[in-house]
Amino acid sequence: MSRRDFSRQSVRRQLSGEGLRPKKSLGQNFLTDDGVLLDIVNSACLKEDSCVLEIGPGMGVLTRELAERAGCVTAVEIDRTILPVLEKNLQEYSHVNIVNGDILKVNLLELFKTYFGAKPVQVVANLPYYITTPIIMKLLETDIAISSVVLMIQREVARRLAAESGSRDFGAISLAVQYRAEVQHVRDVSPEAFEPMPKVWSSVVRLVPREKPPVSVLDETHFFHLIKSAFSQRRKTFINAVSSDGSIGIDKEGLKAVLTSLGLDANLRGETLGLNEFAQISNAIVRKKC
Ligand code: SAM
Repeated sequence: MSRRDFSRQSVRRQLSGEGLRPKKSLGQNFLTDDGVLLDIVNSACLKEDSCVLEIGPGMGVLTRELAERAGCVTAVEIDRTILPVLEKNLQEYSHVNIVNGDILKVNLLELFKTYFGAKPVQVVANLPYYITTPIIMKLLETDIAISSVVLMIQREVARRLAAESGSRDFGAISLAVQYRAEVQHVRDVSPEAFEPMPKVWSSVVRLVPREKPPVSVLDETHFFHLIKSAFSQRRKTFINAVSSDGSIGIDKEGLKAVLTSLGLDANLRGETLGLNEFAQISNAIVRKKC
C-alpha cells in the first residue's frame, strides 16, 4: 500500500488477498478518506518525540500517518487475522509496535510502562463503535499519563459527550466525561468516508484530560452514583428518581431540604443540573451522613 493508497478498492483488494472480509462484529469500517485522515492526525498535534497509542489499527491507514509524525506508536488490534495485512503495511516503520489484544482487557498500566515508560501518551483512534463508551471511560479512569485523546466515534455519542445541561443529548455520560476531560468537536464525517459504509454519521472529537476536576467532590463514588440515579428515570423529577434509590442515603424530605438550601427548585429534573449542582448536592448529602 502506498502512503496514500487507501481507496475503497484498495481496502477490498488487500482484505481479499488474505481471504478476509470486514468483520461487522468488530466494528470494522475502514477509513478511505484522505481529508478525514489528515484532520484526525492534525488535531492530535503530534511532534517528532510524541508517544502514541492507537486502538484498532485495522489495516494500518491511520497507523502509517501516525508513524510518519510521531516518535513511537503502539497499536492494539484484537483481530489476529488482519495482522498479516497490518504488518505488511507497516514494515518500513521500526518505531511501530503491534499488540494483538482486546483493549478492554489489556492492562493499560503495564502496556504504558512497557512501551512508553513514564512519557505522556497521545491516544488516536478510529474506534470500533460497539465499545466506544467503555473504551473512553477506561482511558479516562485509569491512572495513566494521557495528554490528549483524538477519536473517531459515532456522531450521536460525540454529541452526548459534549452536551450541556438542559439539552436533549445531555446525560450521565456527558457528566462523567466532562468531569475528567475537556471535550472539543473537530468535525463530522459522512458514512462515505469508510469501507464498508456504516449506517450512521461519525464525528472526530478531541478530549483533553483535566489535571484536576472542575468541581470539588467529597466522595466520587457517591457523586457518580447520584448522577446515575438521577438519569435512570428521566421522566421523573430529580427528587423522585433519586429518593427511590436507597443507596444514595437520603429520603424525599431530606433531599427537598438539600435542594432548598442550595437555592434549587424541588421540582427540577436531573437533566437540568450541571456538574457544579451535582457536586453541591452530593457533598451536602455526604456531609449529612457523617
Ligand atoms: N484504524 C483503522 C481505520 O481507521 O481504517 C480501523 C478502524 S475500525 C473502525 C476499528 C478497528 O478496531 C478494527 O480493526 C477492529 O478489528 C478493531 N477492534 C475491534 N474491537 C477491538 C478491541 N476490543 N480491541 C482492539 N481492537 C479492536
